[in-house]
Amino acid sequence: MENTKLSELSALIFPDLCDSDTVESLEELFPQRNLPEGAKVTRIAPSPTGSMHLGNLYGALADERVAHSSGNGVFMLRIEDTDDKREVPGAVEKIIKYLGGFGLNFDEGATADGDSGNYGPYRQRARAKYYHIIARKLLLDGRAYPCFCTEEQLKAAHDVQEAAKDNFGYYGKYAVHRDMPIEEAIEKIKNGEKFVLRFRSMGDPTKKTPFKDSIKGNLEVPENDQDFVLLKSDGIPTYHLAHIVDDHFMRTTDVIRGEEWLSTLAWHIELWNACGFKRPRYSHTSQVLKFDEEIGSKRKMSKRKDPECSLEFYYTTGYPRASVIEYLMTLLNSNYEQWRSANPDKDYREFPFSANKMSPSGALFDLAKLNDISKNVIARMSAEEVYAGVSEWAKEYDPDFYSLISRDPAFTTAIFAIGRGGKKPRKDFACWAEVKDFISYFFEETFAMDENEYPANVSAEDRTAILSEYAQNYKTEPDNNAWFETVKNLSEKLGFTSDMKAYKADPTAFKGSVADVSTVIRVAITGRQNSPDLFAICNLLGEDTVKARISAEVK
Ligand code: GLU
Repeated sequence: MENTKLSELSALIFPDLCDSDTVESLEELFPQRNLPEGAKVTRIAPSPTGSMHLGNLYGALADERVAHSSGNGVFMLRIEDTDDKREVPGAVEKIIKYLGGFGLNFDEGATADGDSGNYGPYRQRARAKYYHIIARKLLLDGRAYPCFCTEEQLKAAHDVQEAAKDNFGYYGKYAVHRDMPIEEAIEKIKNGEKFVLRFRSMGDPTKKTPFKDSIKGNLEVPENDQDFVLLKSDGIPTYHLAHIVDDHFMRTTDVIRGEEWLSTLAWHIELWNACGFKRPRYSHTSQVLKFDEEIGSKRKMSKRKDPECSLEFYYTTGYPRASVIEYLMTLLNSNYEQWRSANPDKDYREFPFSANKMSPSGALFDLAKLNDISKNVIARMSAEEVYAGVSEWAKEYDPDFYSLISRDPAFTTAIFAIGRGGKKPRKDFACWAEVKDFISYFFEETFAMDENEYPANVSAEDRTAILSEYAQNYKTEPDNNAWFETVKNLSEKLGFTSDMKAYKADPTAFKGSVADVSTVIRVAITGRQNSPDLFAICNLLGEDTVKARISAEVK
């Protein structure tokens, strides 16, 4: 009798399901994956809100590494589109493009216009039937029930809990519809009353379940007693139900997700058990933090306050993908830096990545450190690679600069060759957006003189004397040494000294040193005090340009 009533209730709640829609049918439809021993299956499950932040990349890199360093593992993209109000058109494309740009490619999952893989659909809204099948099983097993509480009733209960200093939520005496007779529920549904489907918890929060998290270690989780919502009134699942159903039938082996999910972990543990499914391994990643100079302490990164929080930032400023990945790897695995020093030339993918080595407390993001790493990454590139990186970036983000540098690719590449290679390569820029300023003086269009750059201790007359002397005798020198000899001779001739020791001992004996003379020449040619090797710059600019720039400064 009870059973017939339960079947009637179930038919009312799940009119979309027929008898053949069973859990067993799903088990058959999505068989265990035939993967080599130890291969791991991971996924990211972002919402299609169109905004991607550093935390997303950080988490995705962990997922990708865990899957791909496990030997034939699988890295999936699942879209959590259950909240259509937040959905932004084109968001999935953006996720794929932005992560793909950092070398993270999915083996399976949602694609821009569909799906790829045998465990889909990979968009949650297209999986309604699967959630309903499991929810129906829970209902028939007595582990789920409809709840007709209105918003107002829930709010009133919340107020009572607040006054009584009780835990919030739907449990114990507050779970008012938990024991509603089935006939009454049937009646209400027939009358068109709105309802949600809740889980029927059997947990006792005074008891603790031991739980092993790959990152946080051994935890003790108090049992759940919340009758949380499984299906909302429109039949759409909550994260909790969708997580269990999807990760079970997609055969995820490792759930790597943010630590904000620890607070509902007990719900998930109980739900896995109620469904009779084997739980995957869990890794709860800590948040990406930043040191805030203003408040003098660490805080969560914020999209509003920190431009570097958004992934867009790394594209618009043009950080090479290798730099960002290299930095995130150091944040993700504490032993990465040590491995990198021992293996400077290896691809980061060769590093034996392990979730166990991830920091259980927050990862501290430091833009200065990223810049440092990026300068090193760029310093190790060939001039051709730098040219390719800069022009690819400029094409999209700075078209004027792109036309300038692509006018004569060989010339631009030669600029990047200055100071490159050798034991101590120059480390000028951390991202491609910084290049424009560094090389502006190589192009007439962007060359700018700044009088203030001239050394203050050289008088206007001496400056003119140095420059006219230099221009008159200017010739293309055979090498750097010969060039410096010329500058030394010129210095001596004009009362400056090339003997640095003598200059230090008694600076008043001279007008200045050869350093001042070469700075004057450097400023006249480049418009700035700091530049790479001036001899190489002169060679590249050519005699006519050098002479013209110097003559323009003889005033
Ligand atoms: N959409 C969820 C989030 O971004 C997914 C969590 C998970 O990976 O299970 O937090």
